[in-house]
Amino acid sequence: MNHNPSDTAGARAPAASSADPLIKAYVEPTNRCNLNCVTCIRHSWDESPEDLDWSVYGRLIEGLAAFPEARTVAFAGFGEPLLHPRFPDMIRLAHDRGLRTEITTNAMLLSPAMAERLIYAGLDQITVSVDGTSDRSHGAVRPGASLDRIVQNVRTLYLWSLVKHTTPPDADADLKKRTMASLEELAGAPSPPLEATDFLYPMEDMLDTLPQAPVRIGIEFVAMKSNIHELPGLQEIARKIRASFILVSNVLPYAPELQDEILYDMTPTSHESPGDPRNPLWILPRMDWSREAVEAVSAVAWRQANLSYLDINLGQRNNYCPFIGPGSVSLSCHGGISPCPPLLHSYTCYIQGWKKFFRSCVYGNLREQSLEPVWRRPDYAAFRERVRKFEFSPCIDCCGCEFAEGNETDCHGNPFPVCGHCLWARGVLRCA
Ligand code: SF4
Ligand code: SF4
Ligand code: SF4
Repeated sequence: MNHNPSDTAGARAPAASSADPLIKAYVEPTNRCNLNCVTCIRHSWDESPEDLDWSVYGRLIEGLAAFPEARTVAFAGFGEPLLHPRFPDMIRLAHDRGLRTEITTNAMLLSPAMAERLIYAGLDQITVSVDGTSDRSHGAVRPGASLDRIVQNVRTLYLWSLVKHTTPPDADADLKKRTMASLEELAGAPSPPLEATDFLYPMEDMLDTLPQAPVRIGIEFVAMKSNIHELPGLQEIARKIRASFILVSNVLPYAPELQDEILYDMTPTSHESPGDPRNPLWILPRMDWSREAVEAVSAVAWRQANLSYLDINLGQRNNYCPFIGPGSVSLSCHGGISPCPPLLHSYTCYIQGWKKFFRSCVYGNLREQSLEPVWRRPDYAAFRERVRKFEFSPCIDCCGCEFAEGNETDCHGNPFPVCGHCLWARGVLRCA
């Protein structure tokens, strides 16, 4: 069940300005999934399965027209977007309205036919979840998933993208088929994985005659103690699927046993400062990441030192919301509008040893309202302002009282929802 902040929807907040832009909409097409990953949030809730209603989605796209800065619709959330029966239509509608379209997917349902439909509907970016560099290790986190199949599926999508951009818009099925066949021959079969230790630089890519696909492809990897050693092998997978970015996140434990897998016992409390005698600022140069260099720097970093690398302070992303900061809104498969994907649903997770209940925060439902009045609700606008200023108690740095068991309030007396314990705002959790 979703919970709403106090209903003050009648009054209108000041008009949107560049100080409070709406640039991106995250859309959750469904909370159903074809997989059952060990890291999945869905183990910690008892929601019934639901697909986003087509008319609700249409209302979102219509509503975005009132926001001149809106650029992107990202299909993500907590379920597999490709399971929605009208998913390619969702891409097409957003694309036809001039919006960039992105999807995060486990790619198991990305059949050649689906790949063709998505490309011709106007998909701009796909991020594929890869949690291991072999079928076995990927399948250990994502039972039932096959990395080989995913690689094949994404390569086919990439080739469809090339077909679309190398044939005329009115090309018939036969021309497309022939173009696909010659591209497949040019691309060749995916080569066997390199041993991670042998990896230096993919020189063969410099000789590759195939262009970058017009669709942007990425990999998302959830790093844990049990799979972090496979990180270097992702570069070879990126080459096979023509990925242009690799995004690494940490795991948020939704089950108590996953607490043993985290790689950030200390990191969330690191902070940016100009330096002082107790915690001087370390200014690091560009250097080879040789074993000796990495060991020395990590020995310093392990003590929570204040590190700056090429004039970028490595603690600088403290207290920055990656959703409200750039200006986004999130739509759940139930039609609710939330400030961020982490607040779309209620769930239990484990942070710094606390069992924590995050209550969902919904400011309105597109089944009943259009987007603009929801966005302009004074309490929603005030929340966005609070998040931008990050006027919350520093629970991550303190973590010392029962308020840390929920997101209701904090010792500064802030109203629901409070964000002082949010790992997204510390840069520990990331998404594409
Ligand atoms: S693919 Fe995503 S939504 Fe599906 S089970 Fe895995 S983590 Fe959950
Ligand atoms: S700080 Fe965290 S909980 Fe708060 S709005 Fe941002 S992502 Fe959501
Ligand atoms: S609410 Fe205050 S006392 Fe409690 S954990 Fe957060 S910062 Fe610490």
